[in-house]
Amino acid sequence: MEKTAKIYVAGHRGLVGSAIVRNLQAAGYTNLLLRTHAELELTNQAATSAFFEAERPQYVFLAAAKVGGILANNIYSADFIRDNLAIQCNIIHSAYETGVQRLMFLGSSCIYPKLAPQPMKEESLLTGPLEPTNRSYALAKIAGIEMCWSYNRQYGTKYLAAMPTNLYGPGDNYHPDNSHVIPALLRKFNEAKVAQAKEVVVWGTGTPHREFMYSEDMAAACVHIMNLPDDQYEPLLGSDENKTGRFEPPLINIGVGEDLSIKALAQAIQTVVGYTGDVVFDTGKPDGTPRKLMDVSKLRSTGFYASTPLLIGLKKANADFVRSQGLR
Ligand code: GDP
Repeated sequence: MEKTAKIYVAGHRGLVGSAIVRNLQAAGYTNLLLRTHAELELTNQAATSAFFEAERPQYVFLAAAKVGGILANNIYSADFIRDNLAIQCNIIHSAYETGVQRLMFLGSSCIYPKLAPQPMKEESLLTGPLEPTNRSYALAKIAGIEMCWSYNRQYGTKYLAAMPTNLYGPGDNYHPDNSHVIPALLRKFNEAKVAQAKEVVVWGTGTPHREFMYSEDMAAACVHIMNLPDDQYEPLLGSDENKTGRFEPPLINIGVGEDLSIKALAQAIQTVVGYTGDVVFDTGKPDGTPRKLMDVSKLRSTGFYASTPLLIGLKKANADFVRSQGLR
């Protein structure tokens, strides 16, 4: 991408989109196209189409989505499938109609089957039943990957789906119930520390394993991929199985290649926050999928490695939480 290229970051106020914007700005990109939710309703097809016709971006990072943690996904499952299908359908089709050069569609590792072999490779897509707690979100995202694939096949577009592992970082959603595990635990441990509470309740058994990536590393990976020369970018678009017989979706995993248990994560966050009480597990809450570690060999073959160790990332995320809550 030239530094003056017109780049639309959809969802620029979210965890993913805001990290991509910071990365692009720091790298000297000057022509970023940003719209808040209030300015542009992406579930509205006519509004999205009019925006693309008027602005004609050259590159699109599709990071706008309805997202949430294990409980929110379960409770608001109709909203998750409806909003995500609408947003991605409107953006991908408008991108095609206005000749966008490259589009990166972002989702998450929950697109893979609940019991996919670990670490999960891109080719595990559509090989088994999904984790039920986030199936409506996952199916919307799988439909988005299929849209990229179908548009590439039928229209020769260059749309790539990038599926990050669990992310955390500045500007996260710190809601006590609807957020993901790291922001939720940052809140719980900090509040317990301030209140001098005896214990912090962590959901589930503590045995599930998760991989976590700092959002700024993920943004660096996305920008790196978007900037790959054609001879490296195009192989990532997979293959047209109608012609080649090979099932290779236009899909790349974005992760760090290692995971840890929720119990170990809770201990790390306890240390970072400096809370000295007890940690107890509420086994009445769901564990979700037992493990979801990404195979990141495809990403590494492009020359990208994440650079922020978990403990450093957690310290930065905690500083962001503390600042955002005015605790210190
Ligand atoms: P998931 O990766 O889609 O399952 O999403 P989450 O980040 O919401 O949950 C990851 C794991 O952390 C699950 O096993 C949860 O049960 C566990 N967990 C423990 N405490 C919490 C908490 O306070 N909030 C959330 N969201 N998850 C928690």
